[in-house]
Amino acid sequence: MTLETAKDYVLPERVVRLHDEETALAGFIVLHSTRLGPAAGGCRFWSYPSLELASADALRLARGMSYKNALAGLPFGGGKAVIDAPTGTYDRSALFRAFGRAVEALDGLYVTAEDVGTTVEDMAQVSSQTTHVAGLAQVPGQPGGDPSPWTALGVFSAMQVAVAHRLGTSLDGLTVAVQGLGHVGFALCERLHEAGARLLVAEPRSDVAARAVVAFDAQVMTPAALVGARADVFAPCALGGAITARTADALQAKVVCGAANNQLETDMQARQLADRGILYAPDYLVNAGGIINVAAEYSGWDTAEVDARVGQIADRMREVLDLADTQGTTPVEAADALAARIIAKAGRRTVAAA
Ligand code: NAD
Repeated sequence: MTLETAKDYVLPERVVRLHDEETALAGFIVLHSTRLGPAAGGCRFWSYPSLELASADALRLARGMSYKNALAGLPFGGGKAVIDAPTGTYDRSALFRAFGRAVEALDGLYVTAEDVGTTVEDMAQVSSQTTHVAGLAQVPGQPGGDPSPWTALGVFSAMQVAVAHRLGTSLDGLTVAVQGLGHVGFALCERLHEAGARLLVAEPRSDVAARAVVAFDAQVMTPAALVGARADVFAPCALGGAITARTADALQAKVVCGAANNQLETDMQARQLADRGILYAPDYLVNAGGIINVAAEYSGWDTAEVDARVGQIADRMREVLDLADTQGTTPVEAADALAARIIAKAGRRTVAAA
């Protein structure tokens, strides 16, 4: 890769500053790459200490979306919006309508949806100004709505591949430690229980943990104890940053595969896990079921198409693990290299060249 092309993946194609005094809208839309199609990625609404940190977050997240969408085989590039939550009083609906006008001004180069801090109602406000939005109220029988069951399915099938690769077995009879029993974690437990896995779980909401005990015969542990528990697989399905230098050292599992975004505290942890013989399944590869569901809603695909595309997550996982073995890299390095190659093969920018 030449310096020039390498830069293409680091530098975004376009950064749009969001600034509307009337509604207190402030933030950024970052189009990281539109080589594969319109830049798709959600809108984060968060209280940032400074606009510089907001833009840094948008840049990092947009690049992540390029890689996630490329690995999922979607006809979408990567982008992200971040809105800095106003400190004073403001009209939230008016703010999201102003954001919708900014999305509309990009004329289809950017497709938005929910992310941390945004809701279906926010996206309904956006949709009053632009059609380039997904994550709206679901039409019965059509893709859209809660993506969690699709995310859980993708994680489950990637886990089957990772376990077969590292341990040479199926999930039947293995012990899986699931951190977080939210929308994805609980649905993942259902599939793991059906597949014959024994479940250890950690979940601060005691009523939800109790439901897992009844439904799946799960053993409840504290979040701290779960990390060092005797388990074959560790599945982070709560917040990001679950794998720190300390937890990477304490893990007894031989496979880490879960839904949470940004599981590794820093890039160093990918190497740390590999050095301990622990297979880390890249989060942005295995949790793509949600974005596939969003892409289907926007593109008008049917549920069978979503099912087929989520099914391909397992194939991609196999490809990445084989590549990592052949090249002697971590799965994260292999996944990044593969994503960059897919984007590069798409040729020159076709959409955002203006
Ligand atoms: P959720 O908010 O429904 O669930 C998170 C759960 O984790 C909650 O039940 C919470 O009580 C629990 N939790 C919080 N801190 C914990 C801790 N220290 N230990 C154990 N449990 C803890 O979220 P979700 O939709 O299930 O998503 C889970 C993760 O997967 C998030 O990181 C999310 O960004 C990521 N993700 C979700 C989707 C999706 O389709 N929902 C898609 C891609 C990625």
